[in-house]
Amino acid sequence: MNEYTPCCPVCAAELDPRHDEQQCPGCQAVLRFEASCPDCGAPLEQLQGCGAVNYFCQDCSSLISKHRIVFAIRQVGDGE
Ligand SMILES: [Zn+2]
Ligand SMILES: [Zn+2]
Repeated sequence: MNEYTPCCPVCAAELDPRHDEQQCPGCQAVLRFEASCPDCGAPLEQLQGCGAVNYFCQDCSSLISKHRIVFAIRQVGDGE
């Protein structure tokens, strides 16, 4: 179960956590979730393994468990 409900950084509308990239239903901004390190906040590198996705923090030089990553929401466009 994932109880985390992401919100738009622009208008605070609730977003759909199932999509990495989406348009905000409130302000139409195009938003992207970026996996970030829970320890230092740096963006994580995604490593595609054998059927699994791993996350690696270069700053911490360690693999981050999928259950520990936090998502930073970044605006990548204004939807116009
Ligand atoms: Zn919005
Ligand atoms: Zn880190």
